Amino acid sequence: MKAITVEPKKAGSARLEDVPEPDAHYGSVLVEAIAVGVCGTDVEIAEGKYGWAPPGKTRLVLGHESLGRVIDPGPASGLKKGDLVVGIVRRPDPVPCPNCAVGEWDMCRNGQYTERGIKQIDGYMSERWRIEPEYAIKVDPTLGILGVLLEPTTVVAKAWEHILAVGQRAFWEPKRVLVTGAGPIGLLGALIGRQLGMEVHVLARTKTGPKPELVRALGATYHSCSVADVGFEPDVVMECTGVGQVISEAISVVGASGVVCLTGVGHGGSVPKVATADVASTAVLKNIVAFGSVNANKRHWYKAAEALARADHAWLARLITRRERPENFMQALGRGSDEIKVVIQFAEV
Ligand SMILES: [Zn+2]
Repeated sequence: MKAITVEPKKAGSARLEDVPEPDAHYGSVLVEAIAVGVCGTDVEIAEGKYGWAPPGKTRLVLGHESLGRVIDPGPASGLKKGDLVVGIVRRPDPVPCPNCAVGEWDMCRNGQYTERGIKQIDGYMSERWRIEPEYAIKVDPTLGILGVLLEPTTVVAKAWEHILAVGQRAFWEPKRVLVTGAGPIGLLGALIGRQLGMEVHVLARTKTGPKPELVRALGATYHSCSVADVGFEPDVVMECTGVGQVISEAISVVGASGVVCLTGVGHGGSVPKVATADVASTAVLKNIVAFGSVNANKRHWYKAAEALARADHAWLARLITRRERPENFMQALGRGSDEIKVVIQFAEV
């Protein structure tokens, strides 16, 4: 079968090649790939900046935002042939640490977790893949190809759960959220904010293209100014850019006793004129919590599947701005500024 593979830490090594059928040790459920979403992590792996091959191998099958159709449910999976499923990405570490031991692998303490398509387990960019029944999440059949949006939705389902958990440290009734960034994570974070009944504001640089209209279609407000000039005090900031300047301004603008959730992963950069101690002083004097959030556990996968199923499917469809065939994977790994989610489509739904 065909698979998109890469030699991790070696730039330019990605290729579409013939590989053996998926090994039975990957799980008793056999799935035909329908589509796999491309995100920044895939681009970084293809650029040789990140990723680990399975033990004893040099190449890794790429892809962690899956959608497939069950070909063979195997014994006792609770699935049927034809069900649409998405594969959970992370597996608990083998020790396991206390959090992995209770199923909270998203909060792994020792970093020895593994991840399909990223860290030591083959991913989902192959014509067929196998999965353990307990790591296969069934998606609403009416979603069709939109089920490929489940993995990024799990990231914001967890982020929102933690924002609301942090808020319980004191009396807190959050009403206004500012989402910084209007990529897939920002827009799906805004979607869940609206589902929670919040007044949602989304801030991004672009003034044109599909993003402003997608935000307005949610019943949210779009801003293309700087965070400092947004003109109101949000109760929550969901930060999805990873840009230093945006992060420090987010901590400055959030209202007293507010929560800033960091989901973006940036690199280096400099924030001239903003001293860490000044940002920290603001946090102290306004009782602000800023925290990081990554990955998701099975509870968040369940919540995300519910959130997608009740979202406006026509709105979700506009998030997928391009579909590429597997042989055009290199084009899929390159993104234009107005693009939101690019998917590699292996089969029709
Ligand atoms: Zn762990």
